[in-house]
Amino acid sequence: MSTAIPTARDVKLGPTRMLIGGEWVNAASGKTFETVNPATEELIARVPDADEADVNRAVAAARQAFDSGPWRKISGSERGRLMTRLADLIEAHKDELARLETLDNGKPLGDSLAADLPLTIACYRYYAGWADKLHGKTIPVNGPYFCYTRHEPVGVCAQIIPWNFPLLMQAWKLGPALAAGCTVVMKVAEQTPLSALRVGELIQEAGFPPGVVNILTGFGPTAGAPLARHMDVDKVAFTGSTEVGHLIMKYAAESNLKRVTLELGGKSPNIVFADTDLDAAAEGAHFALFFNQGQCCCAGSRLYVEDSIHDAFVARLVAKARARKVGDPFARDTQQGPQVDKTQFDKVMGYIEAGQRDGARLECGGGRVGGRGFFIEPTVFTGVDEQMKIGQEEIFGPVMSVIRFKTIDEVIQRANRTVYGLAAAVWTRDIEKALAIANGVRAGTVWVNCYDVFDAAAPFGGFKQSGIGRELGEYGLSNYLEVKTVTVKV
Ligand code: ADP
Repeated sequence: MSTAIPTARDVKLGPTRMLIGGEWVNAASGKTFETVNPATEELIARVPDADEADVNRAVAAARQAFDSGPWRKISGSERGRLMTRLADLIEAHKDELARLETLDNGKPLGDSLAADLPLTIACYRYYAGWADKLHGKTIPVNGPYFCYTRHEPVGVCAQIIPWNFPLLMQAWKLGPALAAGCTVVMKVAEQTPLSALRVGELIQEAGFPPGVVNILTGFGPTAGAPLARHMDVDKVAFTGSTEVGHLIMKYAAESNLKRVTLELGGKSPNIVFADTDLDAAAEGAHFALFFNQGQCCCAGSRLYVEDSIHDAFVARLVAKARARKVGDPFARDTQQGPQVDKTQFDKVMGYIEAGQRDGARLECGGGRVGGRGFFIEPTVFTGVDEQMKIGQEEIFGPVMSVIRFKTIDEVIQRANRTVYGLAAAVWTRDIEKALAIANGVRAGTVWVNCYDVFDAAAPFGGFKQSGIGRELGEYGLSNYLEVKTVTVKV
């Protein structure tokens, strides 16, 4: 086996056209846009710039595949077999896909290999197992009737995904949709189209009928919006900003009341009590915030530290942030790559300025790394409170905000002082404190003495403005099924 470290030049690109109805196509308009390597700011490739005409074509293909293609007649076990084959193909190409992900997104190759790919493969395998286990109930009703329910696929699904975990978000969306027997038009994020298109090829190789999965590249307002508004789409599943989440609901309301599931932003409290193992908690808090360049919707971005250990804990956090290796995402020792694009880079730098302006104390970082690529120093602020912009808004970058607290009631109240409710965590040796936080915090996921532990079987999603519905697990699947009640006179 070669031990040479791959570089951006070793990456095999895969398709740079869209998948519609089993064909690889350009946009009807012929327009394209650039996808850029965020580590070098160099052009990687141009991909089609889809608009309403392409959306219409893709929805027609998905509609046809759902209404009259072979897909509906395929048994659950055969659907599961196709999905398992897809998981096997992704596994067989995992190095290639990890490199493509790193090239387009900027995440360290080690992370793509250790996190994105295994979680993606596991997600397809998990949902493959569900495909032949979807069934309703028999229901005892009054009178001479036999009543039962069927769980049927919701239909044509629009799926709009973000750029932070392109392969994994594709799997979270396709897994339950395909297991349920739906067909899909997926609009991938404009920043990171490449890995999803390569998976499109593997979907074909696995043997899925044409039109079951259609993949569009394009921008939100011109491709995402017409898709979410489309009258022939039965459901829209969206992951992205809360701002666009509001628009998606509006599009659904203004069109055909299609079903809506949303996985949106967060400002997740990560709460550290004085009785915890400080080294483990510091490592956990560092990971909770800085993993994936801070570009996680569930990032532990409000770090509440109990007063009595505040200074000692901050010293550990600062040492870790300073030691974090930022650089070429293909280098073996890199822990942090660039932000995904210039827009995100500018936004994060704007938050760093706002933190200083609002009177938070900059303990370390705060600047750009190098002159090329969108790299930002791991940054730690202390003295943050929930009134400050950085204590309130989602930063989506490597910027940690430390907030001091004294009592458990106070910290629960403050943790909930946000429009978001995606995730939370608590670090303590005291089970009573852990359970008080787990019960008291209004969030879809609570981690105790750990962070970012994901499993395809465990549901994930938000309270409040962090979303509607759940992804993953059986709950995620239920969002792709309609319940039909059949009553038979006997
Ligand atoms: P971010 O700000 O992190 O890029 P967005 O919510 O803007 O998050 O984007 C997430 C996904 O939503 C992307 O695929 C993007 O193209 C899409 N999107 C953005 N705006 C709209 C819109 N108005 N309608 C539909 N999709 C959109």
